[in-house]
Amino acid sequence: MNDQWCEVCDGAEVRRPSTWDPHVMLLDWNATAANVLRGLEAGQMTYVRFDVPVEDMSLLAQSELKYTIMTYLKCEVCGRDRAMGLCIRGEPIFRVAQPGDAEGWPWEKVPDESLWKHTPPATQGAQ
Ligand SMILES: [Zn+2]
Repeated sequence: MNDQWCEVCDGAEVRRPSTWDPHVMLLDWNATAANVLRGLEAGQMTYVRFDVPVEDMSLLAQSELKYTIMTYLKCEVCGRDRAMGLCIRGEPIFRVAQPGDAEGWPWEKVPDESLWKHTPPATQGAQ
């Protein structure tokens, strides 16, 4: 068990004060996901198992076609696993996972990409 702060996976986590209480720190999903993507591209993190790749998670979540979207990663720098997830209701997840957690997760079929994977339409004109 490695409890040392890891620059790659602990450092990927970005939190910001919530809008309703500055003492409540919420996960900044976009910033955290961007850091994780950089780690994946650099080979510092690898996928264990996922519903969809990290870059597609927000898009699938926005479609509300799947209740929970999970990705399990391994940090190659510290050797720990990470779980990250989005669900329709509730806060995004970014936490240390135990080896084997990915196998224990109740994976469900991902809706066909044609139903959710598209470029969001550009906002038309002013309000
Ligand atoms: Zn790490």
